[in-house]
Amino acid sequence: ADRARGLPVTVGTHCAYCALQCGTRLRRNGPAVEVEPSPDFPVNRGGLCQKGWTAPVLLTAPDRLRTPLVRGADGELAPSGWDEALDLIASRLARLRAEHGPDAVAVFGGGGLTNEKAYALGKFARVALGTSRIDYNGRFCMASAAAAGNAAFGIDRGLPFPVTDLSDADVVMLAGANPAETMPPLMRHLSRTRLVVIDPRRTRTAEQAALHLQPAPGTDLALALGLLHLAVTDGHLDKEYLDTRTTGFEAAWQRAVTWWPEHVEQVTGVPVADQRAAVTMLAEAGRRYILTGRGVEQHSKGTDTAAAFINLALALGLPGRAGSGYGCLTGQGNGQGGREHGQKADQLPGYRVITDPEARAHVAGVWGVDPASLPGPGHAAYQLLDALGTPGGPRALLVFGSNPVVSAPHAAHVARRLAALDLLVVADLVPSETTELADVVLPVAQWAEEEGTTTSLEGRVLRRRPVLAPPDGVRTDLEVLHGIAVRLGQPAHRFPVSPRAVFDELRRASGGGRADYAGITYERLDAGEALYWPCPDVPGGDHPGTPRLFLDRFHHPDGRARFAPVEHRDPAETPDTDYPLFATTGRVLAQYQSGAQTRRVPELVAAAPEAHVEVHPDTAARYHLGEGDLARVTSARGSTIARVRLVRTLRTDTVFLPFHFPGTGRANLLTGPALDPVSGMPEFKVSAVRVEPWREK
Ligand code: SF4
Repeated sequence: ADRARGLPVTVGTHCAYCALQCGTRLRRNGPAVEVEPSPDFPVNRGGLCQKGWTAPVLLTAPDRLRTPLVRGADGELAPSGWDEALDLIASRLARLRAEHGPDAVAVFGGGGLTNEKAYALGKFARVALGTSRIDYNGRFCMASAAAAGNAAFGIDRGLPFPVTDLSDADVVMLAGANPAETMPPLMRHLSRTRLVVIDPRRTRTAEQAALHLQPAPGTDLALALGLLHLAVTDGHLDKEYLDTRTTGFEAAWQRAVTWWPEHVEQVTGVPVADQRAAVTMLAEAGRRYILTGRGVEQHSKGTDTAAAFINLALALGLPGRAGSGYGCLTGQGNGQGGREHGQKADQLPGYRVITDPEARAHVAGVWGVDPASLPGPGHAAYQLLDALGTPGGPRALLVFGSNPVVSAPHAAHVARRLAALDLLVVADLVPSETTELADVVLPVAQWAEEEGTTTSLEGRVLRRRPVLAPPDGVRTDLEVLHGIAVRLGQPAHRFPVSPRAVFDELRRASGGGRADYAGITYERLDAGEALYWPCPDVPGGDHPGTPRLFLDRFHHPDGRARFAPVEHRDPAETPDTDYPLFATTGRVLAQYQSGAQTRRVPELVAAAPEAHVEVHPDTAARYHLGEGDLARVTSARGSTIARVRLVRTLRTDTVFLPFHFPGTGRANLLTGPALDPVSGMPEFKVSAVRVEPWREK
């Protein structure tokens, strides 16, 4: 009740579901909350998607977690007090660390956590637990473009320009991105733009395109090499830009030189004429952009594929110029901020590299610890999960803001690894497939119940504001981390529970780093300033932030962007006689991520009620499947059961499954453990499968 006191009846905040972070106004009406779009937030321009309109439903979900649960001797989860639950967690963590060392305890975070939570979680892992074993589910989302962007530009900000710049674009190439379905308000900025869409599926975005290139799954790197080849041989190279603003073109060109259009057509299935038309449209337009999404990234060669599209953008002279550019459409709720503040295995706050002695000294100074006490780099998300409960691997895992039993690849294996732990602690809003396996479940507050900041896909830092107090019995993630850290012997002041205090510390920790928030304050954000990082702290405290990056120089020491010499290679598996089809996974408009939240919203359930598999009618006929039938889809990892939808938007060699659904409908029962060697990204977009009718027993 104390926490509710003083909260305003209406607040301006932002939708928590995806990285567009649409502006909303919330109004408290008794126990209910009403939402409407902010008319003046430029990104969504008064629009929301179905998920945004229905988001308040989750605040009063009937099965909302309201008390800690502890698994008893009978194997059942039973209600517990907070002190009892936190005492239990701390004592078991302390014992495991004493017996097996600090890396016996691991932490798994989420790309939907606020900046404050992501920061506090990274600090908690490295200081309170002393473990290197921390990573997060953003590794399954945008890690490949982040790696490629850092290598090319020296800094990774999804869009290095405001979303509103796209409104003036003449041509936009969207590679592996389907914003018409995943972030519909973005399409308001593209209504007068000619779109070139690259996607194996004829998505809702592709239906609006002037040109749709439909490569075979896993061949978009070959296609990007071919487009670079055509840009050069058709005379579209921006030579002055190459000479003054880039390095490494020659090595990249040597990898593209053999990708003649006819060869590209053989490998990808994209006709030569369409390849040429795509390059010509981009090259001849005045204002043009290349944007990539998960379709480019979620491959065992995702970093190289994103780099190949960056190479194309550099060859045409797009990045770092007003009215043109390259960007990545980051997906998760705080997909950008979630990767900047230290919950990645290889990073410290400010997007600093954890092996850099200067970075370690700076961050350790802010944290008040010895730099030598900070652990080194850990393992990428799937590797972390794969090692759980194995000899020498972590024996305890703390999960915040993630549901890996549904969202991780090779999901049945991951569930087995979670079940092999000595201790699994999950902090969440609602029960999930991962809380079902937990030894301790901690109920935590959600988006409209606490304050903080998030960072949108364009690098703009935004305030999240509460209109409700958390329900009785529910704590914030910051309170949970504080409670465990103190029980592990940390001084209370080191883990503040106030988001404002955490943000002020985050500002200092990020200062001078690649993602510099030092000049951003709650006061400036509350005053309505639009602040994009980097925003260093300057005398007077009025640095305006950086809406557009790279206009003068890129963030490498020589100021130049770097081409990457990349080669095409096949996916980890391709169809054969046992598994004759490609399966590719993705999202639908009415669901979000693992569906733990959106599967509790009746309107969204009505729109997307169950696991389904999209199949071309010709393919369905071959395998004796009809519309509405149940099909069993099987890969080398296992099978999933899904309802057949006949669509003509797919190639006949490919089926599509959204990954939001639980139980036997999990698409990730099919996906495999192949990882990108640079980013650690799993190959969600390509598995080899067979399909067959399935009769319920
Ligand atoms: Fe929320 Fe994204 Fe939909 Fe906007 S597009 S309302 S941020 S889910």
